[in-house]
Amino acid sequence: MTELATCPACGRLMRLASGCALTQLEHRQRVQYGFEDEDWGAGSGSPCRGCAVVAYQFHHWGCEVARCGECGDREHKGPCEALARS
Ligand SMILES: [Zn+2]
Ligand SMILES: [Zn+2]
Ligand SMILES: [Zn+2]
Repeated sequence: MTELATCPACGRLMRLASGCALTQLEHRQRVQYGFEDEDWGAGSGSPCRGCAVVAYQFHHWGCEVARCGECGDREHKGPCEALARS
């Protein structure tokens, strides 16, 4: 990512905002940094490697670490395939 990337969801500079204002995506609750299935370092106090938010805040939109709360894949817009399969 570039140093001055702006989050398209909250309009703030990713490196200056400690968390995203977007808490919900369409009908889905978003997954905060630290609640992913994988360990990205939130427990040890490291900021997100993708969008630099602090632990247990919401990722900025487009972060490579952000996960969909339903399918566990990278966060996405539109209907979730996990729901379509069930
Ligand atoms: Zn944001
Ligand atoms: Zn992130
Ligand atoms: Zn999904």
